Amino acid sequence: MSTLPDLLIPKAYIDGQWRSGARQFAVTNPASGEVLAEVPDLGADDAREAIAAAEAAWPAWRKRPVKERSRLLRAWFDAIMAHQEELAHLMTLEQGKPLAESRGEVAYGAAFVEFYAEQAKCMAGETLPSHGVDKRILVFREPIGVVAAITPWNFPLAMITRKCAPALAAGCPVVIKPAEATPLTALALAKLADDVGLPAGVLNVVTAAQPAAIGEVLTTDPRVRKVSFTGSTPVGKKLLAQCAGTVKKAAMELGGNAPFIVFDDADLDAAVEGAIASKFRNSGQTCVCTNRFLVQASVYDAFVEKLAARVVELKVGNGLENDVVQGPLINAAAVDKVQAHIHDALGKGARLVCGGEPHALGGTFFQPTVLADVTPDMRVATDETFGPLAPVFRFDTDAEAIAMANATEFGLAAYFYARDYRRIWHVMEGLEYGMVAVNEGILSTELAPFGGVKESGLGREGSHHGLDDFTELKYVCVGGL
Ligand code: NAD
Repeated sequence: MSTLPDLLIPKAYIDGQWRSGARQFAVTNPASGEVLAEVPDLGADDAREAIAAAEAAWPAWRKRPVKERSRLLRAWFDAIMAHQEELAHLMTLEQGKPLAESRGEVAYGAAFVEFYAEQAKCMAGETLPSHGVDKRILVFREPIGVVAAITPWNFPLAMITRKCAPALAAGCPVVIKPAEATPLTALALAKLADDVGLPAGVLNVVTAAQPAAIGEVLTTDPRVRKVSFTGSTPVGKKLLAQCAGTVKKAAMELGGNAPFIVFDDADLDAAVEGAIASKFRNSGQTCVCTNRFLVQASVYDAFVEKLAARVVELKVGNGLENDVVQGPLINAAAVDKVQAHIHDALGKGARLVCGGEPHALGGTFFQPTVLADVTPDMRVATDETFGPLAPVFRFDTDAEAIAMANATEFGLAAYFYARDYRRIWHVMEGLEYGMVAVNEGILSTELAPFGGVKESGLGREGSHHGLDDFTELKYVCVGGL
């Protein structure tokens, strides 16, 4: 039995109370199948209770002087960083990513709390030129109200702080519904928020094995003013439709199909390092991870050879072990999807360069894989694999590369490596994506607006734009002056 940190209370957190449920569900370690803990399997009534607690906490929270809200957020940040090691350990246990990546996620996730503790003080309204000598135009920026945050399993901590920190900073209370695979990190975060004195009802966590019933309440209850969802595009579309009935503001951080383009003037060694970071972080289970490598014909063979040489070195294993860089996939369905994409591509003429099979460790471990001679008729061209599979396509001209990159309904992140500055500008401008990384394999930071276009989503998280998303503008016309 793995040792769980003291800061985990395996209960739901509603209105400042730790709550049991009539039913429980098990949270397992994807590296071993071991049951780590059982947490309450809550339903629609519990979700309504959490919304009521948040609604009741809202008036005092929004009126709280901004420096006090800011100090509480700063204290939460300090507490998260003081427990970085325990949180990282817990995250690796329930999610599987290597410990070094978990530590990185704790720091990345905490950075949103630190950033929005400061941004809270910059939430400004404005006065505008008026339409009459006896009138004045005032614009107030007000907190939107109760926020529902529904988060995925691949970043159990950062996807929560990326939503909660700006919401709390803006003066909004939050009801969090964490992914059923990874609720423990969410509960540990709530414990730290409780420890630093966040008032009851301002942050609530409802856990459930089956999300649909709670999801329906969070998207239809009129007391919830904003739904912030991160997860798959099909679920996002469903939730967006459910939000329509009460015209809720909705932020949707959805799936991707990121291209990673390597042009013939690129620094190939730098491109390979960027490729490893972008493709194999979290075993390929990140929304911004490369789904398709597009490589110019004249450097194609050299790139594939260099990439494969690095990929075969990636050590697969339990994320708690030293020097492991590839953990297990989250579940058997994830393995099935990777295998289905490989079989489909090989059946249509792709070439296996390395990997291609479940790993000898068994369970949900999978060999990091490179496929060459991949073509647009293969499933990997259009579907998000969400696993350690690097399919490499070939192109001839810049225009062809841009067209291939944009030939998808997704538009989250895109990457490219090149040196010529004219080419860099043209490609950067031609890519229909919310985020573009040039000669970089990792782009996430709390300082920049994160989000997608097309079916990758609505809204932005991070930067001052992330705060604006949790506010409404109120125009006041003062007349008779
Ligand atoms: P998912 O859509 O299956 O689940 C996400 C969350 O939604 C979970 O909490 C789940 O319990 C909940 N959910 C599922 N069905 C629901 C319903 N009917 N009602 C209410 N809630 C429901 O996604 P996942 O498998 O957890 O995460 C992987 C996906 O998330 C990938 O597609 C990935 O690209 C995407 N993702 C996007 C971003 C981003 O910022 N754009 C970040 C991380 C992950």
